[in-house]
Amino acid sequence: METKFIFITGGVVSSVGKGVTSAALGRLLKERGFKVAVQKLDPYINVDPGTMNPYQHGEVFVLDDGAETDLDLGHYERFIDISLNRVCNVTTGQVYAEVIEKERHGSFLGGTIQVIPHITDEIKRRIGMVAQTLDVDIVLVEVGGTVGDIESLPFLEALRQMRGDVGRENSVYIHATWLPYIGATNELKTKPTQHSVRELRSIGISPDMIVARSDHPITQDLIDKIALFCDVEPQAIVPMVTTPVMYEVPLLLERAGIGEYLLERLGLQPRKQPDWGIWERIVEQSRRQRPKVQVALVGKYVELHDAYMSVREALKHAALALGVEAEIAWVHSADLEDGEGWETVKAADGIIVPGGFGDRGIEGKIQAARYAREDKVPYLGLCLGMQLMVVEFGRQVLGDESVNSTEFDPDTPHPVIDLMPDQKDIVDKGATMRLGLYPCCLQPGSVAAKAYGVDLVQERHRHRFELNNAYREQFAEHGMRFSGVSPDDRLVEIAELDDHPFMLGTQFHPEFLSRPTRPHPLFLAFLQAVCQRAGVAVVEELQSF
Ligand code: GLN
Repeated sequence: METKFIFITGGVVSSVGKGVTSAALGRLLKERGFKVAVQKLDPYINVDPGTMNPYQHGEVFVLDDGAETDLDLGHYERFIDISLNRVCNVTTGQVYAEVIEKERHGSFLGGTIQVIPHITDEIKRRIGMVAQTLDVDIVLVEVGGTVGDIESLPFLEALRQMRGDVGRENSVYIHATWLPYIGATNELKTKPTQHSVRELRSIGISPDMIVARSDHPITQDLIDKIALFCDVEPQAIVPMVTTPVMYEVPLLLERAGIGEYLLERLGLQPRKQPDWGIWERIVEQSRRQRPKVQVALVGKYVELHDAYMSVREALKHAALALGVEAEIAWVHSADLEDGEGWETVKAADGIIVPGGFGDRGIEGKIQAARYAREDKVPYLGLCLGMQLMVVEFGRQVLGDESVNSTEFDPDTPHPVIDLMPDQKDIVDKGATMRLGLYPCCLQPGSVAAKAYGVDLVQERHRHRFELNNAYREQFAEHGMRFSGVSPDDRLVEIAELDDHPFMLGTQFHPEFLSRPTRPHPLFLAFLQAVCQRAGVAVVEELQSF
């Protein structure tokens, strides 16, 4: 079959949930037996978000192949339960870097290099690469930003050209917009949607479908009005009212008949009937009143919850499977250093110290790890959270507060966490960390091995520093178990404490592989320990989602 393309653009304002909508559309198609992938086109000039401050951009999501990508790729992988690759996130920076390199190489034979056709050709080449490298039937392509942005123009022009290249029967344009609500007159407004569609038309793209997002119910006459003014059939206007349960979006789209509509539009017959059983159970469980437990997330970017998107989702997946609600208490680690925020930490029944870079708030995280160890509070350390658990343990074992990671004190006499040897000569910051999937052997009988139930796992990494092997023996004698190591035993991937209900840190990021339908074993084990401490019963047998 010829590859089919679904292009998703955004209008009116950003943050209307285009990423979740694209992910949910992908699920609709997968439920009908098609192999799908989703690609995000990001118009900013950075080559990837890896060098960006999370305050700017939220979490950096890491793929199996080590690509550092936009957090929307996390939505795609979680909703569709697929593994994407680095061609699934394209930025202006990547496109220009490639074209300029070719120009320097002499590949254009004296031609003048222009946005059309050279930049647009490179964008189209990258869209084509998704189907080639992932062997899928349908590629969904989401364009970041909002129609009307200067920097997204080459991407939209490339999408416009794609229809000519692949044909109308193989391409669908979906425009996601926002209907603002005017409180004084108690009505939703369609005018910004009309303007946004007009803007899109002026670029040469006529949307086939409109996803109208709103915080308020959308009536049929509004749908008819959008259809009339925007020249789109009423059944191709998708009313999408904000839901507190994100994983409900595929079900809402299904009920709106979007799966059938898309297939018909693309001339496809379903290969199987959708089975929404799992999703319905997830949504039912999300809506149910469940016993609450509190988990303190001690981080650096806590004002922006998107900076910890995958951690939040992984905890949610585990909580749904265990029939509880895990409330996150966001704690700024720098506050802990000033003696503030401790009542929140102490009110919680578990602590997560997530990944991070740079020295702000580090001592606060170490203090949180100390409290967790001494008071036997369940603790899950993710990457930096594992490293700081080791630093804290080292300070205790060696009786010396100068124990540190060389990331924070290059001159520490006890560098228990140190730069990986192959990182020592690297000066460039972009895409130079230890990135992506690596195998990890689990020690039989350990907390980690029991949680996973297997002896070899693959997990995603993003770090430069690691445990210094010179301290392994001494720490092991004092009750720190290195329960996960690289197959050659040179890198410690998991550390856990023996004399503790659950104190475990991973050098990798388990949160990237958690799915609503397949909660991550370590998050499940951690949350079980949290529930036990809180005296909250979990469902006897894990719901087999
Ligand atoms: N800054 C630490 C390192 O580079 C931890 C990285 C992380 O938490 N992702 O090793």
